[in-house]
Amino acid sequence: MMEHNLIESSDELWQKAISLLREVMATDQERSQMERYFPLFISHSIENNEYVVGLSEQFHVDWLSPKFALPLERALHSVGLPNEFHVRFTVKKQQEDSATTTPSPELARNKLTDNQHRVAPHLRGIPSTMPLQENYTFENFVRGPSNSFAHAAATAVAKGPGRTSYNPLFIYGGTGLGKTHLMEAIGHYVIDHSQSSSVCFITSETFLNEYVNAIQNDSLPAFRERYRKVDVLLLDDVQFIAGKEKVQEEFFNTFYSLILYHKQIVITSDVSPKNLNKFEERLIGRFQQGMVVEIESPSYETRLAILKSKAQATQKIIPEEILKFIAENIRSHVRAIEGALARIVTFMSMQSDIPLTIDIAKHLLRDSIEEEKTIKDLSIGDIMKTVAAFYGITIEDILSSQRTQTLVTPRQLAMFLSRKLTTKSLQEIADEFKKTHATILHGAQTIQKRLDVEPDLKKSIEEVVLRMGRKASDILE
Ligand code: ADP
Ligand code: MG
Repeated sequence: MMEHNLIESSDELWQKAISLLREVMATDQERSQMERYFPLFISHSIENNEYVVGLSEQFHVDWLSPKFALPLERALHSVGLPNEFHVRFTVKKQQEDSATTTPSPELARNKLTDNQHRVAPHLRGIPSTMPLQENYTFENFVRGPSNSFAHAAATAVAKGPGRTSYNPLFIYGGTGLGKTHLMEAIGHYVIDHSQSSSVCFITSETFLNEYVNAIQNDSLPAFRERYRKVDVLLLDDVQFIAGKEKVQEEFFNTFYSLILYHKQIVITSDVSPKNLNKFEERLIGRFQQGMVVEIESPSYETRLAILKSKAQATQKIIPEEILKFIAENIRSHVRAIEGALARIVTFMSMQSDIPLTIDIAKHLLRDSIEEEKTIKDLSIGDIMKTVAAFYGITIEDILSSQRTQTLVTPRQLAMFLSRKLTTKSLQEIADEFKKTHATILHGAQTIQKRLDVEPDLKKSIEEVVLRMGRKASDILE
């Protein structure tokens, strides 16, 4: 009888444990990673002295047990599962739902919605694929100068997988800038427009784990066969297999055979191919053969546009002033912006009678704002590039010695900003500008003086600073 009660509450325990896990994840990245795995848990039930979590594939069990069994067990214990019950992950076929097995809500959702087909192809013949995040679509991706090139390439690939010269498409950029989102958008698009195409989305970490498993189980041919069947291979975070020669070689072979059959490959990485350390030369060569695109940090306008789009999705009415405040203060990457928005939204839901003011927002976001202060310096190169683009001149113009006023102002402005926005020494700045200390100091001082009397110049500078993801107040103290 006792067991029966527990069985009835297995779903409740599950819900509570998952909420708890969501709360305790240390970083937004960890949380988003975990969200991705949830759909893989297809059932949970209480059997004898165990809390049994069902997955559809053995390799999901092998791969998720070490990661999740213990945290999940701890979470379940904290929400009321008796301590003598242990968590076990096992393979459960979906059709053999026994009376004691509660399908997980994720499964129920997948069954009920149109989203089903997004998961189904993953489970057909290509067990290695991870489910695509529902909202990582092109529709939800906000375009801006920092990502428009990558976006255009991704769209082209999605419309004609394997049929463009963008093969592989290699997307790189710092963390939280939208690489995975864009990659999965390609997956969604292909699945939506061609039901027969098999899309495989995996991280290079998973690829590595599977490869290791395949060797241990003596099933390398089956592993290879599976990957050779894929129409679109989306390999996320390739930098993870740096220094792992064997798996690089395996990937090289997979890569080679897919390209040979005009299958599409998309790769993401935190650095450009040529900056990938501890990678085989020939693999780097391959990565550069298609199209290499960078996603950069979003400008103030793009950050604000992303915020507005995400805010709309929350269906809460957030004052524009607050959105601007976030866009101004959270500049590092989009994931941090989402984190900030989530905190604001939580506050609004829980304290619906208190009007949200800037002061409250400041307080809620104090940790993130503090963290932002430690973001690494802008490079002098970035500054020259942004200033040159703003004034419609080239970096060569900035570095030249021509004394026409159209060049002197931008040049001096770049010097001024290099002093204000980087921690580089005067010597380093002088070296990069190929000028003397005195010239740099004079240039920076000239701008400082003009600022007080030329509102137009001040406006321009503010604009340039925002384009670099900084705040006007960083330089105008
Ligand atoms: P990366 O893979 O580069 O670390 P992600 O693709 O995981 O970054 O993006 C982090 C978060 O930011 C995701 O929730 C994603 O939806 C969001 N995001 C990033 N860029 C954009 C964008 N241009 N428009 C909308 N959302 C974005
Ligand atoms: Mg990513």
